[in-house]
Amino acid sequence: MRVLALGMDGADYDLVSSLLGEGRLPTLARLAGEGSYAPLRSTVPAVTPTAWSSFLTGLNPGGHGIFNFTANPNRGTHRMESAASRRGAPFWRMLGAAGLRSAFVTVPFTYPAEAVDGVVVTGYGGPEPPQVLPEAARERILAAHPDLVTARHPMKERWWEDFEAYTARLVEHVGQIADVCRLAMELEPDLSLLCVDFMSSDHAGHLAYARLDPEHPAHDPAQAGDELVRVYEAVDRACSELIDAARKRYGEEPTVLLLSDHGMKPIHWTFHVNRWLEEHGHLRYRRRSLQPLRGGRLDYAAKVDQRLARTRRGYGRLLDRLPALPRPRSERAFADIDFGSTRAYGFATGGQVYLGEASGALADPRYLDRLAEELAAVRHPATGEPAFAVKRKEELFRGPLLAKAPELVLLPHDERIHVEASRRPWQAAFERHERLDPQVGYGYSGHHGLTGILAAAGPGIAFGAAPEGAEITQLPATICRLFGLELEGVDGAPIEEILADGRGDTRRVAAAGGQTSGDEPVYSAEEEAVILERLRDLGYE
Ligand SMILES: [Zn+2]
Repeated sequence: MRVLALGMDGADYDLVSSLLGEGRLPTLARLAGEGSYAPLRSTVPAVTPTAWSSFLTGLNPGGHGIFNFTANPNRGTHRMESAASRRGAPFWRMLGAAGLRSAFVTVPFTYPAEAVDGVVVTGYGGPEPPQVLPEAARERILAAHPDLVTARHPMKERWWEDFEAYTARLVEHVGQIADVCRLAMELEPDLSLLCVDFMSSDHAGHLAYARLDPEHPAHDPAQAGDELVRVYEAVDRACSELIDAARKRYGEEPTVLLLSDHGMKPIHWTFHVNRWLEEHGHLRYRRRSLQPLRGGRLDYAAKVDQRLARTRRGYGRLLDRLPALPRPRSERAFADIDFGSTRAYGFATGGQVYLGEASGALADPRYLDRLAEELAAVRHPATGEPAFAVKRKEELFRGPLLAKAPELVLLPHDERIHVEASRRPWQAAFERHERLDPQVGYGYSGHHGLTGILAAAGPGIAFGAAPEGAEITQLPATICRLFGLELEGVDGAPIEEILADGRGDTRRVAAAGGQTSGDEPVYSAEEEAVILERLRDLGYE
Protein backbone atom coordinates (compact mmCIF):
# COMPACT_ATOMS: atom_id res chain seq x y z
CA MET A 1 0.00 0.00 0.00
CA ARG A 2 1.26 3.46 -0.98
CA VAL A 3 -0.62 6.49 0.29
CA LEU A 4 -0.34 10.08 -0.87
CA ALA A 5 -1.90 12.70 1.42
CA LEU A 6 -1.86 15.92 -0.59
CA GLY A 7 -2.78 19.20 1.07
CA MET A 8 -4.27 22.08 -0.92
CA ASP A 9 -4.04 24.48 1.99
CA GLY A 10 -7.25 26.40 2.61
CA ALA A 11 -9.14 24.91 -0.38
CA ASP A 12 -12.77 25.77 0.25
CA TYR A 13 -15.49 23.15 -0.19
CA ASP A 14 -18.05 25.47 -1.83
CA LEU A 15 -15.53 27.08 -4.16
CA VAL A 16 -13.93 23.75 -5.13
CA SER A 17 -17.36 22.20 -5.74
CA SER A 18 -18.32 25.00 -8.11
CA LEU A 19 -14.96 24.78 -9.90
CA LEU A 20 -15.47 21.03 -10.32
CA GLY A 21 -18.77 21.90 -12.00
CA GLU A 22 -16.86 24.11 -14.43
CA GLY A 23 -14.33 21.36 -15.15
CA ARG A 24 -11.41 23.42 -13.89
CA LEU A 25 -9.83 20.95 -11.45
CA PRO A 26 -9.37 17.72 -13.45
CA THR A 27 -7.32 15.79 -10.87
CA LEU A 28 -9.79 16.44 -8.09
CA ALA A 29 -12.63 15.60 -10.49
CA ARG A 30 -11.00 12.27 -11.35
CA LEU A 31 -10.47 11.37 -7.68
CA ALA A 32 -14.04 12.37 -6.83
CA GLY A 33 -15.36 10.37 -9.80
CA GLU A 34 -13.36 7.23 -9.01
CA GLY A 35 -13.65 7.36 -5.23
CA SER A 36 -15.16 9.63 -2.61
CA TYR A 37 -15.56 13.39 -2.26
CA ALA A 38 -16.82 15.14 0.85
CA PRO A 39 -16.68 18.30 2.91
CA LEU A 40 -13.99 18.07 5.59
CA ARG A 41 -14.67 20.03 8.75
CA SER A 42 -11.69 21.90 10.13
CA THR A 43 -10.92 22.46 13.77
CA VAL A 44 -12.34 25.34 15.80
CA PRO A 45 -10.57 27.71 15.46
CA ALA A 46 -10.12 26.93 11.75
CA VAL A 47 -6.54 28.18 11.62
CA THR A 48 -3.59 26.52 9.92
CA PRO A 49 -1.49 25.55 13.00
CA THR A 50 -4.52 24.24 14.90
CA ALA A 51 -5.94 22.25 12.00
CA TRP A 52 -2.62 20.68 10.96
CA SER A 53 -1.87 19.84 14.59
CA SER A 54 -5.13 17.87 14.66
CA PHE A 55 -4.20 16.31 11.32
CA LEU A 56 -0.87 15.16 12.77
CA THR A 57 -2.01 13.97 16.20
CA GLY A 58 -5.69 13.00 15.79
CA LEU A 59 -6.42 15.15 18.85
CA ASN A 60 -8.83 18.06 19.24
CA PRO A 61 -7.22 21.40 20.25
CA GLY A 62 -8.01 20.75 23.93
CA GLY A 63 -5.76 17.70 23.55
CA HIS A 64 -2.84 19.11 21.55
CA GLY A 65 -3.06 22.65 22.95
CA ILE A 66 -2.36 24.63 19.75
CA PHE A 67 -5.00 27.35 19.33
CA ASN A 68 -2.99 29.76 17.20
CA PHE A 69 0.54 30.48 15.92
CA THR A 70 1.25 32.21 19.21
CA ALA A 71 -0.03 31.40 22.68
CA ASN A 72 -2.20 33.79 24.62
CA PRO A 73 0.42 35.11 27.08
CA ASN A 74 -2.15 34.95 29.88
CA ARG A 75 -2.67 31.21 29.33
CA GLY A 76 0.51 29.73 27.93
CA THR A 77 4.14 29.61 28.89
CA HIS A 78 5.35 30.00 25.31
CA ARG A 79 5.19 32.99 23.05
CA MET A 80 5.60 31.19 19.74
CA GLU A 81 3.87 27.86 19.45
CA SER A 82 5.67 25.09 17.60
CA ALA A 83 5.72 21.33 17.23
CA ALA A 84 7.71 21.29 20.47
CA SER A 85 4.93 22.93 22.48
CA ARG A 86 2.30 20.57 21.08
CA ARG A 87 1.03 17.66 23.11
CA GLY A 88 0.25 14.32 21.47
CA ALA A 89 2.10 12.05 19.10
CA PRO A 90 2.35 12.78 15.37
CA PHE A 91 1.17 9.65 13.57
CA TRP A 92 4.48 9.16 11.75
CA ARG A 93 5.71 7.66 15.02
CA MET A 94 3.08 4.92 14.83
CA LEU A 95 3.84 4.30 11.17
CA GLY A 96 7.54 4.10 12.02
CA ALA A 97 6.88 1.70 14.89
CA ALA A 98 5.00 -0.52 12.41
CA GLY A 99 7.99 -0.49 10.05
CA LEU A 100 6.46 1.96 7.56
CA ARG A 101 8.52 4.82 6.15
CA SER A 102 7.04 8.24 5.50
CA ALA A 103 7.89 11.68 4.13
CA PHE A 104 6.32 14.90 5.44
CA VAL A 105 7.00 17.83 3.13
CA THR A 106 6.19 21.41 4.25
CA VAL A 107 3.33 20.30 6.47
CA PRO A 108 2.69 23.31 8.74
CA PHE A 109 3.84 23.12 12.35
CA THR A 110 6.40 20.37 11.96
CA TYR A 111 9.26 22.58 13.24
CA PRO A 112 11.41 21.73 15.13
CA ALA A 113 11.80 18.60 13.02
CA GLU A 114 11.71 15.23 14.66
CA ALA A 115 13.77 12.35 13.29
CA VAL A 116 11.23 10.23 11.40
CA ASP A 117 11.62 6.90 9.66
CA GLY A 118 11.86 8.73 6.37
CA VAL A 119 12.17 12.41 5.46
CA VAL A 120 10.81 15.61 6.96
CA VAL A 121 10.90 19.10 5.48
CA THR A 122 9.39 21.49 8.04
CA GLY A 123 6.49 23.72 7.01
CA TYR A 124 4.72 27.03 7.53
CA GLY A 125 4.87 28.51 11.01
CA GLY A 126 8.58 27.69 11.34
CA PRO A 127 11.80 29.31 10.12
CA GLU A 128 13.06 29.88 6.57
CA PRO A 129 14.68 27.96 5.01
CA PRO A 130 12.88 24.91 6.36
CA GLN A 131 14.70 22.35 8.43
CA VAL A 132 15.26 19.05 6.59
CA LEU A 133 16.02 15.68 8.17
CA PRO A 134 17.98 13.47 7.77
CA GLU A 135 21.22 15.18 6.77
CA ALA A 136 21.53 13.29 3.46
CA ALA A 137 18.07 14.50 2.47
CA ARG A 138 18.95 18.04 3.48
CA GLU A 139 22.02 18.05 1.26
CA ARG A 140 20.19 16.61 -1.74
CA ILE A 141 17.08 18.81 -1.43
CA LEU A 142 18.88 22.09 -0.70
CA ALA A 143 21.38 21.41 -3.50
CA ALA A 144 18.46 21.16 -5.93
CA HIS A 145 16.56 24.08 -4.32
CA PRO A 146 18.98 26.42 -2.55
CA ASP A 147 16.23 29.07 -2.25
CA LEU A 148 13.68 26.68 -0.71
CA VAL A 149 11.04 28.33 1.51
CA THR A 150 7.90 26.99 3.19
CA ALA A 151 5.77 29.68 1.54
CA ARG A 152 5.96 32.90 -0.47
CA HIS A 153 5.39 35.44 2.26
CA PRO A 154 3.16 38.18 0.83
CA MET A 155 4.15 41.30 2.75
CA LYS A 156 7.85 40.65 2.30
CA GLU A 157 7.25 40.36 -1.44
CA ARG A 158 4.98 43.44 -1.49
CA TRP A 159 2.23 41.52 -3.23
CA TRP A 160 0.04 44.57 -3.90
CA GLU A 161 2.59 46.19 -6.18
CA ASP A 162 2.33 43.55 -8.90
CA PHE A 163 -0.21 40.89 -8.16
CA GLU A 164 0.38 39.08 -11.44
CA ALA A 165 4.05 38.66 -10.54
CA TYR A 166 3.18 37.55 -7.00
CA THR A 167 0.72 34.98 -8.38
CA ALA A 168 3.46 33.66 -10.66
CA ARG A 169 5.66 33.14 -7.59
CA LEU A 170 2.84 31.32 -5.77
CA VAL A 171 2.45 29.01 -8.78
CA GLU A 172 6.19 28.52 -9.08
CA HIS A 173 6.34 27.61 -5.39
CA VAL A 174 3.78 24.85 -5.96
CA GLY A 175 6.09 23.39 -8.61
CA GLN A 176 9.09 23.67 -6.32
CA ILE A 177 7.37 21.83 -3.46
CA ALA A 178 6.18 19.13 -5.87
CA ASP A 179 9.78 18.68 -6.97
CA VAL A 180 10.90 18.34 -3.34
CA CYS A 181 8.29 15.55 -3.04
CA ARG A 182 9.79 13.79 -6.07
CA LEU A 183 13.23 14.06 -4.46
CA ALA A 184 11.80 12.59 -1.25
CA MET A 185 10.51 9.61 -3.26
CA GLU A 186 13.94 9.22 -4.80
CA LEU A 187 15.66 9.39 -1.41
CA GLU A 188 13.19 6.92 0.09
CA PRO A 189 12.69 4.13 -2.42
CA ASP A 190 10.31 2.27 -0.12
CA LEU A 191 8.05 5.06 1.02
CA SER A 192 4.61 4.06 2.38
CA LEU A 193 3.23 7.56 2.94
CA LEU A 194 4.02 10.85 1.27
CA CYS A 195 2.32 13.80 2.94
CA VAL A 196 2.68 17.32 1.57
CA ASP A 197 1.02 20.71 2.02
CA PHE A 198 0.96 23.41 -0.66
CA MET A 199 0.67 26.74 1.17
CA SER A 200 0.20 28.87 -1.97
CA SER A 201 -3.54 28.17 -2.13
CA ASP A 202 -4.00 29.56 1.40
CA HIS A 203 -2.17 32.80 0.56
CA ALA A 204 -4.06 33.17 -2.72
CA GLY A 205 -7.34 32.77 -0.83
CA HIS A 206 -6.48 35.52 1.63
CA LEU A 207 -5.28 37.94 -1.01
CA ALA A 208 -7.24 37.33 -4.21
CA TYR A 209 -10.84 36.89 -3.07
CA ALA A 210 -11.85 40.51 -3.74
CA ARG A 211 -10.59 40.11 -7.30
CA LEU A 212 -12.58 36.92 -7.85
CA ASP A 213 -15.85 37.71 -6.06
CA PRO A 214 -17.88 40.40 -7.89
CA GLU A 215 -20.06 40.81 -4.77
CA HIS A 216 -17.08 41.60 -2.57
CA PRO A 217 -17.37 45.11 -1.06
CA ALA A 218 -13.78 45.84 -2.16
CA HIS A 219 -14.23 44.43 -5.66
CA ASP A 220 -13.02 46.73 -8.40
CA PRO A 221 -13.89 45.55 -11.94
CA ALA A 222 -10.66 47.12 -13.19
CA GLN A 223 -8.75 44.90 -10.74
CA ALA A 224 -10.74 41.71 -11.30
CA GLY A 225 -8.93 38.42 -11.80
CA ASP A 226 -9.12 34.69 -11.24
CA GLU A 227 -5.67 34.30 -9.66
CA LEU A 228 -7.16 32.31 -6.80
CA VAL A 229 -8.52 29.72 -9.21
CA ARG A 230 -5.24 29.63 -11.12
CA VAL A 231 -3.36 28.76 -7.93
CA TYR A 232 -5.91 25.99 -7.15
CA GLU A 233 -5.33 24.73 -10.71
CA ALA A 234 -1.57 24.74 -10.17
CA VAL A 235 -1.96 22.58 -7.04
CA ASP A 236 -4.38 20.28 -8.90
CA ARG A 237 -1.78 19.86 -11.66
CA ALA A 238 1.05 19.21 -9.18
CA CYS A 239 -1.07 16.53 -7.49
CA SER A 240 -1.62 14.82 -10.84
CA GLU A 241 2.15 14.80 -11.47
CA LEU A 242 2.85 13.36 -8.02
CA ILE A 243 0.27 10.61 -8.49
CA ASP A 244 1.90 9.71 -11.84
CA ALA A 245 5.36 9.78 -10.27
CA ALA A 246 4.26 7.46 -7.45
CA ARG A 247 2.54 5.06 -9.86
CA LYS A 248 5.68 4.89 -11.98
CA ARG A 249 8.11 4.53 -9.10
CA TYR A 250 6.20 1.88 -7.13
CA GLY A 251 4.54 0.07 -10.02
CA GLU A 252 1.19 0.17 -8.26
CA GLU A 253 -1.79 2.52 -8.03
CA PRO A 254 -1.38 4.74 -4.96
CA THR A 255 -4.22 5.54 -2.60
CA VAL A 256 -4.71 9.29 -2.78
CA LEU A 257 -6.25 11.65 -0.22
CA LEU A 258 -6.47 15.23 -1.46
CA LEU A 259 -7.50 17.44 1.41
CA SER A 260 -7.53 20.90 2.90
CA ASP A 261 -7.13 22.01 6.49
CA HIS A 262 -9.95 24.61 6.39
CA GLY A 263 -12.11 26.49 3.92
CA MET A 264 -11.77 30.06 2.66
CA LYS A 265 -14.52 32.68 2.40
CA PRO A 266 -14.62 36.26 1.13
CA ILE A 267 -14.72 38.85 3.91
CA HIS A 268 -17.73 41.11 3.41
CA TRP A 269 -17.89 42.41 7.00
CA THR A 270 -15.39 42.57 9.81
CA PHE A 271 -16.45 42.33 13.44
CA HIS A 272 -13.86 44.00 15.67
CA VAL A 273 -14.55 41.99 18.78
CA ASN A 274 -12.32 44.04 21.11
CA ARG A 275 -13.95 47.24 19.95
CA TRP A 276 -17.37 45.70 20.69
CA LEU A 277 -16.21 44.50 24.12
CA GLU A 278 -14.84 47.96 24.88
CA GLU A 279 -18.07 49.67 23.79
CA HIS A 280 -20.11 47.36 25.99
CA GLY A 281 -17.96 47.85 29.07
CA HIS A 282 -16.22 44.48 29.14
CA LEU A 283 -12.76 45.61 28.09
CA ARG A 284 -10.66 48.60 29.02
CA TYR A 285 -7.57 49.86 27.21
CA ARG A 286 -4.84 51.66 29.07
CA ARG A 287 -4.36 55.38 28.44
CA ARG A 288 -0.74 55.39 29.58
CA SER A 289 1.70 52.61 28.95
CA LEU A 290 5.39 51.85 28.77
CA GLN A 291 4.88 49.66 25.71
CA PRO A 292 6.14 52.37 23.28
CA LEU A 293 9.55 51.84 24.96
CA ARG A 294 9.71 48.26 23.70
CA GLY A 295 12.90 47.35 21.92
CA GLY A 296 14.70 50.50 23.08
CA ARG A 297 17.02 51.21 26.01
CA LEU A 298 14.09 50.85 28.41
CA ASP A 299 12.94 47.52 27.00
CA TYR A 300 13.23 45.93 30.42
CA ALA A 301 10.84 48.49 31.92
CA ALA A 302 8.38 47.80 29.08
CA LYS A 303 8.49 44.08 29.86
CA VAL A 304 7.87 44.64 33.56
CA ASP A 305 5.04 47.00 32.61
CA GLN A 306 3.44 44.32 30.47
CA ARG A 307 3.66 41.74 33.21
CA LEU A 308 2.12 44.08 35.77
CA ALA A 309 -0.68 45.09 33.38
CA ARG A 310 -1.51 41.43 32.90
CA THR A 311 -1.42 40.39 36.53
CA ARG A 312 -2.10 43.37 38.85
CA ARG A 313 -5.61 44.58 39.25
CA GLY A 314 -5.14 48.30 39.89
CA TYR A 315 -1.98 48.80 37.85
CA GLY A 316 -3.59 50.04 34.61
CA ARG A 317 -5.67 52.70 36.32
CA LEU A 318 -2.74 53.78 38.49
CA LEU A 319 -0.55 54.37 35.44
CA ASP A 320 -3.33 56.29 33.68
CA ARG A 321 -2.97 58.99 36.33
CA LEU A 322 0.62 59.71 35.38
CA PRO A 323 0.39 62.21 32.50
CA ALA A 324 4.14 62.25 31.86
CA LEU A 325 4.06 58.65 30.60
CA PRO A 326 3.62 57.85 26.91
CA ARG A 327 0.27 57.09 25.33
CA PRO A 328 -0.07 53.57 23.87
CA ARG A 329 0.20 53.09 20.14
CA SER A 330 -3.00 51.99 18.53
CA GLU A 331 -1.70 48.87 16.80
CA ARG A 332 -1.34 45.27 18.00
CA ALA A 333 -2.02 46.46 21.48
CA PHE A 334 -2.68 43.28 23.40
CA ALA A 335 -0.16 44.53 25.95
CA ASP A 336 -2.13 47.76 26.34
CA ILE A 337 -5.30 46.08 27.50
CA ASP A 338 -5.86 47.00 31.14
CA PHE A 339 -6.36 43.41 32.24
CA GLY A 340 -7.07 44.42 35.82
CA SER A 341 -10.27 46.13 34.62
CA THR A 342 -11.04 43.80 31.69
CA ARG A 343 -13.57 41.02 32.01
CA ALA A 344 -13.33 39.67 28.46
CA TYR A 345 -11.02 40.12 25.47
CA GLY A 346 -10.55 38.69 22.02
CA PHE A 347 -7.25 37.10 21.09
CA ALA A 348 -5.96 35.81 17.73
CA THR A 349 -8.33 34.91 14.91
CA GLY A 350 -11.30 32.59 14.70
CA GLY A 351 -13.59 34.40 17.17
CA GLN A 352 -11.71 33.43 20.36
CA VAL A 353 -12.96 35.27 23.46
CA TYR A 354 -11.14 34.82 26.77
CA LEU A 355 -12.44 35.83 30.17
CA GLY A 356 -10.28 38.18 32.22
CA GLU A 357 -7.89 36.40 34.54
CA ALA A 358 -6.64 39.32 36.64
CA SER A 359 -10.09 40.93 36.97
CA GLY A 360 -11.65 37.77 38.41
CA ALA A 361 -14.18 37.37 35.57
CA LEU A 362 -12.76 33.95 34.74
CA ALA A 363 -13.92 32.63 38.10
CA ASP A 364 -17.46 34.01 37.76
CA PRO A 365 -19.84 31.61 35.95
CA ARG A 366 -22.72 34.10 36.02
CA TYR A 367 -20.64 36.57 34.12
CA LEU A 368 -19.92 33.96 31.45
CA ASP A 369 -23.66 33.37 31.00
CA ARG A 370 -24.35 37.07 30.69
CA LEU A 371 -21.59 37.71 28.18
CA ALA A 372 -22.62 34.69 26.08
CA GLU A 373 -26.17 36.04 25.99
CA GLU A 374 -25.05 39.53 25.00
CA LEU A 375 -22.84 38.20 22.21
CA ALA A 376 -25.61 35.93 20.94
CA ALA A 377 -27.79 39.04 20.56
CA VAL A 378 -25.34 40.79 18.21
CA ARG A 379 -27.09 41.27 14.86
CA HIS A 380 -25.87 40.69 11.31
CA PRO A 381 -25.34 44.19 9.89
CA ALA A 382 -27.26 43.44 6.69
CA THR A 383 -29.96 40.92 7.61
CA GLY A 384 -30.62 41.82 11.25
CA GLU A 385 -30.51 38.11 12.15
CA PRO A 386 -28.32 36.93 15.05
CA ALA A 387 -24.78 37.07 13.71
CA PHE A 388 -23.03 34.40 15.80
CA ALA A 389 -23.39 30.97 17.27
CA VAL A 390 -21.70 31.53 20.63
CA LYS A 391 -19.98 28.31 21.67
CA ARG A 392 -18.61 27.51 25.10
CA LYS A 393 -15.30 25.77 25.46
CA GLU A 394 -16.86 22.61 26.89
CA GLU A 395 -18.96 22.23 23.73
CA LEU A 396 -15.91 22.42 21.51
CA PHE A 397 -12.89 21.07 23.35
CA ARG A 398 -11.92 18.31 25.70
CA GLY A 399 -8.62 17.18 27.11
CA PRO A 400 -5.84 18.22 29.44
CA LEU A 401 -5.28 21.68 27.88
CA LEU A 402 -8.80 23.01 28.30
CA ALA A 403 -7.56 25.85 30.55
CA LYS A 404 -5.60 27.22 27.59
CA ALA A 405 -8.75 27.36 25.42
CA PRO A 406 -10.94 30.47 24.99
CA GLU A 407 -14.05 30.42 27.18
CA LEU A 408 -16.24 31.44 24.22
CA VAL A 409 -15.88 31.14 20.46
CA LEU A 410 -17.93 33.24 18.04
CA LEU A 411 -18.85 31.25 14.94
CA PRO A 412 -20.50 33.53 12.36
CA HIS A 413 -23.65 32.01 10.84
CA ASP A 414 -22.70 33.87 7.68
CA GLU A 415 -19.07 32.97 7.07
CA ARG A 416 -18.51 36.20 5.14
CA ILE A 417 -18.20 37.83 8.58
CA HIS A 418 -14.60 37.95 9.80
CA VAL A 419 -14.00 38.27 13.54
CA GLU A 420 -10.74 39.97 14.39
CA ALA A 421 -9.16 40.96 17.68
CA SER A 422 -6.69 43.75 17.06
CA ARG A 423 -6.88 47.30 18.32
CA ARG A 424 -6.98 50.12 15.85
CA PRO A 425 -9.10 53.25 15.69
CA TRP A 426 -11.96 51.38 14.04
CA GLN A 427 -15.05 53.39 13.09
CA ALA A 428 -17.45 50.84 14.54
CA ALA A 429 -17.52 47.27 15.83
CA PHE A 430 -19.00 46.07 12.52
CA GLU A 431 -17.51 47.41 9.30
CA ARG A 432 -18.15 46.56 5.69
CA HIS A 433 -14.86 45.36 4.25
CA GLU A 434 -14.57 48.03 1.58
CA ARG A 435 -10.91 48.98 1.79
CA LEU A 436 -8.06 46.50 1.62
CA ASP A 437 -5.20 48.81 2.52
CA PRO A 438 -2.37 46.25 2.32
CA GLN A 439 0.31 48.25 4.05
CA VAL A 440 -1.80 48.93 7.12
CA GLY A 441 -4.33 46.11 7.26
CA TYR A 442 -2.46 43.35 5.38
CA GLY A 443 -4.94 43.70 2.53
CA TYR A 444 -6.59 40.36 2.93
CA SER A 445 -10.00 40.00 1.39
CA GLY A 446 -10.57 36.32 2.23
CA HIS A 447 -10.40 34.49 5.54
CA HIS A 448 -10.66 30.96 6.84
CA GLY A 449 -13.94 29.08 6.73
CA LEU A 450 -14.80 25.89 8.59
CA THR A 451 -15.28 23.58 5.66
CA GLY A 452 -12.42 22.18 3.66
CA ILE A 453 -12.34 19.29 1.20
CA LEU A 454 -11.52 15.60 1.16
CA ALA A 455 -11.29 13.67 -2.10
CA ALA A 456 -10.01 10.11 -1.94
CA ALA A 457 -9.50 7.33 -4.47
CA GLY A 458 -7.47 4.19 -5.02
CA PRO A 459 -6.96 0.91 -3.16
CA GLY A 460 -8.89 0.78 0.13
CA ILE A 461 -11.25 3.66 -0.73
CA ALA A 462 -15.01 3.25 -1.21
CA PHE A 463 -16.70 4.29 -4.44
CA GLY A 464 -19.23 7.10 -4.39
CA ALA A 465 -19.16 7.92 -0.67
CA ALA A 466 -19.93 11.50 0.32
CA PRO A 467 -20.11 11.59 4.13
CA GLU A 468 -21.47 14.80 5.65
CA GLY A 469 -19.63 14.92 8.95
CA ALA A 470 -15.99 14.01 8.25
CA GLU A 471 -13.45 15.98 10.31
CA ILE A 472 -9.75 16.65 9.88
CA THR A 473 -9.09 15.14 13.32
CA GLN A 474 -10.13 11.76 11.86
CA LEU A 475 -7.39 11.65 9.23
CA PRO A 476 -4.53 9.99 11.15
CA ALA A 477 -6.79 7.09 12.17
CA THR A 478 -8.12 6.89 8.59
CA ILE A 479 -4.63 6.80 7.07
CA CYS A 480 -3.41 4.27 9.64
CA ARG A 481 -6.43 2.07 8.84
CA LEU A 482 -5.37 2.03 5.18
CA PHE A 483 -2.16 0.38 6.42
CA GLY A 484 -4.10 -2.07 8.60
CA LEU A 485 -3.26 -0.20 11.80
CA GLU A 486 -5.80 0.68 14.47
CA LEU A 487 -4.78 3.94 16.13
CA GLU A 488 -5.61 4.13 19.83
CA GLY A 489 -5.70 7.11 22.15
CA VAL A 490 -6.90 9.68 19.59
CA ASP A 491 -10.10 11.75 19.41
CA GLY A 492 -10.86 11.12 15.73
CA ALA A 493 -12.02 7.65 14.64
CA PRO A 494 -11.43 6.49 11.05
CA ILE A 495 -13.87 7.91 8.47
CA GLU A 496 -15.57 4.55 7.90
CA GLU A 497 -17.76 5.77 5.01
CA ILE A 498 -14.85 6.36 2.66
CA LEU A 499 -13.04 3.11 3.53
CA ALA A 500 -13.73 0.15 1.30
CA ASP A 501 -13.18 -2.98 3.38
CA GLY A 502 -14.22 -2.55 6.96
CA ARG A 503 -11.85 -3.35 9.72
CA GLY A 504 -10.36 -6.58 8.35
CA ASP A 505 -7.16 -7.65 10.04
CA THR A 506 -5.86 -4.70 11.92
CA ARG A 507 -3.04 -4.27 14.36
CA ARG A 508 -3.46 -1.93 17.30
CA VAL A 509 -0.99 0.88 17.77
CA ALA A 510 -1.11 3.38 20.60
CA ALA A 511 -0.85 7.10 20.04
CA ALA A 512 -0.14 7.77 23.69
CA GLY A 513 3.14 7.12 25.48
CA GLY A 514 4.89 9.96 27.27
CA GLN A 515 4.14 12.61 24.67
CA THR A 516 4.16 15.79 26.66
CA SER A 517 4.81 19.24 25.35
CA GLY A 518 8.15 20.75 26.20
CA ASP A 519 8.57 23.91 28.23
CA GLU A 520 11.91 24.93 26.77
CA PRO A 521 11.72 27.82 24.31
CA VAL A 522 12.43 26.69 20.75
CA TYR A 523 13.27 30.09 19.28
CA SER A 524 15.78 32.74 20.25
CA ALA A 525 14.41 36.27 20.67
CA GLU A 526 15.72 37.22 17.19
CA GLU A 527 14.24 34.16 15.49
CA GLU A 528 10.95 34.82 17.23
CA ALA A 529 10.90 38.42 16.01
CA VAL A 530 11.45 37.32 12.40
CA ILE A 531 8.71 34.69 12.51
CA LEU A 532 6.25 37.02 14.23
CA GLU A 533 6.85 39.66 11.57
CA ARG A 534 6.11 37.09 8.87
CA LEU A 535 2.93 35.95 10.57
CA ARG A 536 1.79 39.55 10.64
CA ASP A 537 1.74 39.22 6.86
CA LEU A 538 -1.63 37.59 7.20
CA GLY A 539 -2.87 39.45 10.20
CA TYR A 540 -2.17 36.58 12.53
CA GLU A 541 -0.53 38.62 15.20
ZN1 LIG B 1 -4.29 26.61 6.25
